[in-house]
Amino acid sequence: MKQTHQEFMESRALRSAQHIVDTGESLREAAIALKINKSTIHEDIHKRVKKVNYSLYKEVMKVLNHNGIIWHKRGGDATARMFKKLKERDRVRFNPKWNVVQSIMKGLEASGGYCPCVTTHNKDTICPCREMKSENICKCGLFILEEKGEV
Ligand code: SF4
Repeated sequence: MKQTHQEFMESRALRSAQHIVDTGESLREAAIALKINKSTIHEDIHKRVKKVNYSLYKEVMKVLNHNGIIWHKRGGDATARMFKKLKERDRVRFNPKWNVVQSIMKGLEASGGYCPCVTTHNKDTICPCREMKSENICKCGLFILEEKGEV
């Protein structure tokens, strides 16, 4: 049976939302990965996902809000740029275990952007820390390398 226009829009919306939940990507990153306009994804999530799958909507909003919080707390644009650079260079991404990401983000929020896995607060321990930037080592498990599928 042929898919109606509405069914097509809903399935696209659900796919985008699930992608964000699975990867922890921002709207902008998801738009690039899925080759869909950022505002389309935004509208899909708020209009369609909210209506057809409210529990997925809550999950995706949790991811997007956490991303917003971390970028905001850490100085927003600078951190977003750094994460983008890491991602482009080494295909770094958030750990797919979202409960791990959530708990580290809470720690980052509480510490004002310093690594929650260490007690020292200096420029080397601001997330992403010196080890992460130079050697791709995230001891907390917030980031993983796509190629290796490991932290
Ligand atoms: S270990 Fe991971 S979470 Fe901690 S500061 Fe480095 S990159 Fe961020």
